[in-house]
Amino acid sequence: MSSNILQLNQVSKNYRIGAANLSVLRDISFDIEEGATVAIVGPSGSGKTTLLGLCAGLDHCSEGTIVLNGISLHELNEDQLAQVRNAHVGFVFQNFQLLPTLTALENVLVPMELRGMKNMKKKAMDLLDKVGLSARMDHYPSQLSGGEQQRVSLARAFANSPKILFADEPTGNLDAETGLLVENLLFQLNEELGTTLVIVTHDMELAAKTQRIIPIRGGAII
Ligand code: ADP
Repeated sequence: MSSNILQLNQVSKNYRIGAANLSVLRDISFDIEEGATVAIVGPSGSGKTTLLGLCAGLDHCSEGTIVLNGISLHELNEDQLAQVRNAHVGFVFQNFQLLPTLTALENVLVPMELRGMKNMKKKAMDLLDKVGLSARMDHYPSQLSGGEQQRVSLARAFANSPKILFADEPTGNLDAETGLLVENLLFQLNEELGTTLVIVTHDMELAAKTQRIIPIRGGAII
């Protein structure tokens, strides 16, 4: 059995805009081993976010195949893709994307509830403890700093015990010191839980800390 958690074979993504066909990704192939840490790097507009979204099942590719944890994403409809995301994937965004009307604890509970998991308060509290936010669990996002919000979003990303975590510029909105704290947490959780990490970044210092760099430019791997 393959130990690859993610396999892309000749993946392309096109957007149709009016009469024009915009090619955003072309002929992307790579495998990622379970437990690995990987950075996807490239200039702005090179297709990194689009690629991450395809890998995480947020969107369909136009051509090629994507197999995540043994599941062929390209064969699934939207509902099935959503199920795969809930069951197998964690996601961290540059702008945190916490729900503003829910407390830190409630935000972490959301993915658990989506999975139909009951009585998860203790696990959610443990996750907030892991990211150093026990004292802030009843705070709303607006009452937290950017770094704290990103730590809540990390705890939320791990709520469904994902095998793979996708992070899109996770430190992009944070100052250097806070960014380092969030980075260290990501690598710590990778080590402790064996979660595969795929990070989109243009920060080469962060990329250099991963085991492997996938450089993309103009929608293709270089
Ligand atoms: P990066 O993350 O490297 O900055 P993106 O993946 O965000 O790059 O974008 C790559 C290209 O795809 C850009 O030219 C962008 O305008 C285009 N693009 C992204 N999403 C869409 C969309 N939904 N419709 C049309 N074009 C898009």
